[in-house]
Amino acid sequence: MASLTLDKVRKTFGSVEVLKEINLTIEDGEFLVLVGPSGCGKSTLLNLIAGLETSSDGEIRIGDRVINNVHPKDRNIAMVFQSYALYPNMTVRKNITFGLEIRGVSASERDKAVDDVAHLLQIENLLDRKPSQLSGGQRQRVAMGRALVRNPDIFLFDEPLSNLDAKLRVDMRTEIKKLHHRLGSTIVYVTHDQIEAMTLASRIAVMKGGILQQFDTPQHIYEKPNNMFVAGFIGSPS
Ligand code: ADP
Ligand code: MG
Repeated sequence: MASLTLDKVRKTFGSVEVLKEINLTIEDGEFLVLVGPSGCGKSTLLNLIAGLETSSDGEIRIGDRVINNVHPKDRNIAMVFQSYALYPNMTVRKNITFGLEIRGVSASERDKAVDDVAHLLQIENLLDRKPSQLSGGQRQRVAMGRALVRNPDIFLFDEPLSNLDAKLRVDMRTEIKKLHHRLGSTIVYVTHDQIEAMTLASRIAVMKGGILQQFDTPQHIYEKPNNMFVAGFIGSPS
């Protein structure tokens, strides 16, 4: 089971408390969208889940397993960032399979994995290209392919579409939604875009200043915001 729990999680950098006491349970297969103003702690929260940062207090669990001290490589969590960070000198195929190669997965298994993922993301015809020969949307698909090929229990997305133009953002939003339906994976997705949040989320978490303001379905957040901040944030255009 890939439910994810944050239990009284705090994070301080020096004397600054960036996450104040986050309690959050994300059900297996749920699509959670995390929104909030710049600097409110969204990326820090994802980094704690991925193990790229260590929490100052509290517990993070996958199912019943406490993962605070589990190495990022052993968490079976994949993260997709805003900047795609593809390896410029490697082909798309190599970019996608490099992580598997490091883990000692055999060449034949890697080929099968990359073919499956390429089919799913419709990038079969791009496998021999270098990143410089791809559009922004294609690069983002490759970045997603690199995450997918690991067959993670949990996907973390940190504003993955914010570098794309409006039309492509809409297309990719649809793709991500389809992917979620097909894979049923648990997703935590950070965005600035309210429409993205409203259309993708099974539940939305609204954060401000390291404090969770509301955690509810898009409909409830829209109809019954907890406070003026939530109302303004969901109501205002991006
Ligand atoms: P968001 O993703 O919501 O924009 P972040 O999680 O990146 O916000 O940052 C939250 C706060 O924590 C910001 O004030 C940021 O400056 C601070 N912060 C993030 N990472 C570090 C770090 N490694 N060291 C010190 N402060 C940090
Ligand atoms: Mg951020």
